[in-house]
Amino acid sequence: MATDLNPKCKKCRRAGEKLFLKGERCNTPKCGVIRKAYAPGMHGSKMGRALSEYGKQLEMKQRIKRIYGVMERQFRKHFEEASRKQGVTGNLLMMRLEMRLDNVVFRLGLADSRKAARQIVGHGSIVLNGKKASIPSMKVKIGDVLGINVSKKDKRYFQERAKMMKRSKDIPSWIALDPSKIEGRILSEPDVESIGVNVDPQLVVEYYSR
Ligand code: SF4
Repeated sequence: MATDLNPKCKKCRRAGEKLFLKGERCNTPKCGVIRKAYAPGMHGSKMGRALSEYGKQLEMKQRIKRIYGVMERQFRKHFEEASRKQGVTGNLLMMRLEMRLDNVVFRLGLADSRKAARQIVGHGSIVLNGKKASIPSMKVKIGDVLGINVSKKDKRYFQERAKMMKRSKDIPSWIALDPSKIEGRILSEPDVESIGVNVDPQLVVEYYSR
């Protein structure tokens, strides 16, 4: 599997905004965007942000890929599948990304970042409709129930997470959470307006339509 080795904080500084790639640290003053509010590299602090149309489209594509931790080939596949469906391609692309298993694990509060969520899925800790699900890119469907593998449920990590989930107010409205069972049920497709990531997927559609 291809691995993206770029340091995470540099990605945020290049994007010019927080992409929340490092879990808890992102909400502290140690956040790279707060400590170094300029682009990385020798000339980062002097760089202007005037971009061509193509530059804006490319930057948006890169930003969305960084947020969801998806490599180019897989991102392109998500786009192609979204463009085959009826509807607004940019919105459908965002919905597909939101409904990836790793993202749902992150949204449920079972991990502090999407990267950590991918590891949890890869380690076989997640079950989907009672069956082990270890592929982070799997797409969940309405009605699916996501939970923790019985053999891992008593682990301290998940018990701590269950306590945090009880207090959490950030669960999206399209997922019903049952913290006592450490379970989430998919109620609907995500509402693109309330996904809460600052992106314009239409620029990605324009990028791939060139
Ligand atoms: Fe981005 Fe988080 Fe690093 Fe801040 S701490 S720059 S949000 S990855």
